[in-house]
Amino acid sequence: NKQVILKHYVSGFPKESDMEIRTTKTQLKLPEGCSGAILVKNLYLSCDPYMRNRMRKMEGSYIESFTPGSPIGGYGVAEVLDSTHSNFNKGDLVWGRTTWEDHSIITSTESLAKIQHTDVPLSYYTGILGMPGMTAYAGFFEVCSPKKGERVFISAASGAVGQLVGQFAKLFGCYVVGSAGSKEKVDLLKNKFGFDKAFNYKEEADLNAALKRYFPDGIDIYFDNVGGKMLDAVLLHMTLHSRIAACGMISQYNLEQPEGVRNLMCLITKQIRMEGFLVFDYYHLYPKFLEMIIPQIKEGKITYVEDIAEGLENAPRALMGLFSGRNIGKQVVAVTRG
Ligand code: NDP
Repeated sequence: NKQVILKHYVSGFPKESDMEIRTTKTQLKLPEGCSGAILVKNLYLSCDPYMRNRMRKMEGSYIESFTPGSPIGGYGVAEVLDSTHSNFNKGDLVWGRTTWEDHSIITSTESLAKIQHTDVPLSYYTGILGMPGMTAYAGFFEVCSPKKGERVFISAASGAVGQLVGQFAKLFGCYVVGSAGSKEKVDLLKNKFGFDKAFNYKEEADLNAALKRYFPDGIDIYFDNVGGKMLDAVLLHMTLHSRIAACGMISQYNLEQPEGVRNLMCLITKQIRMEGFLVFDYYHLYPKFLEMIIPQIKEGKITYVEDIAEGLENAPRALMGLFSGRNIGKQVVAVTRG
């Protein structure tokens, strides 16, 4: 069994060398007489920014830290090889929380959902049909309270969550602008995802001037994936009674001291509603979400770009790539094909 191990807690910018691949000779099997457990073969693993936080020692967080010396874990897609759990049978395909290794024994199955629709790529259950998809859906429709014709800005817009928020907002009838960190990503936003406008924030010396250019009449909805300097600049451009969905702040995850945000007064003067949210609170909407999105995928109304790294050996590099923007679209690791 090959595993991705966290060597130690990480401070500052994480590196591939903070993890190592360990191969054990053990052939995993369910212990005699156990009940409520499943043995799975992991097929796809999801690289997600929140995993960085789990690499530090945390107390009282919404999620537990990884354990140095042990394999890391996250969302994934897996096939059930053996089961003593009444809800799962050999041959079932599932998505949910698993471990970064070839095979896993899962005893806490609460997060696992059986995959019903298998006529779409299975890797989609790490992205558009999984946690990031639900984040985009809940964040946009539930947190942002959008109205047709509103002006929407999305940061980290070509990523797993952002590319979907933009497409939802376009289908809903909004004016949509996204920022991303390279020309290739900006082209994707405009040409593949149908954003009205997009820009490379790394090439804008003055974020204020850039936002003024794309939003001369202000921003009604900001879907924030990055926090930091971009959030500070955006606050100045929000309209009266506008909304900010605080989804993530990736620009802060590797800093030992978070940057200050200077323009928070705008929340008061412009009566902005800024709301942080966690996707976990919204999974009850998953069936409704699937009902909407499966036809949209099949009819080609929504498209999804993935960046697939092959093999567990390449998993640490794939995960680290999220923090330098190497991923183009949803970063996935294919453990075993088929
Ligand atoms: P992405 O697929 O967008 O990957 C991360 C991207 O962030 C990178 O490709 C890079 O894109 C950008 N980035 C990295 N470092 C920085 C930086 N210092 N400043 C600005 N941008 C940076 O990730 P996801 O779509 O999976 O996640 C997007 C955000 O949503 C994250 O903040 C994540 O934590 C959050 N999230 C929140 C959830 C919730 O429940 N609230 C659930 C899921 C995700 P670029 O090249 O454009 O810079």
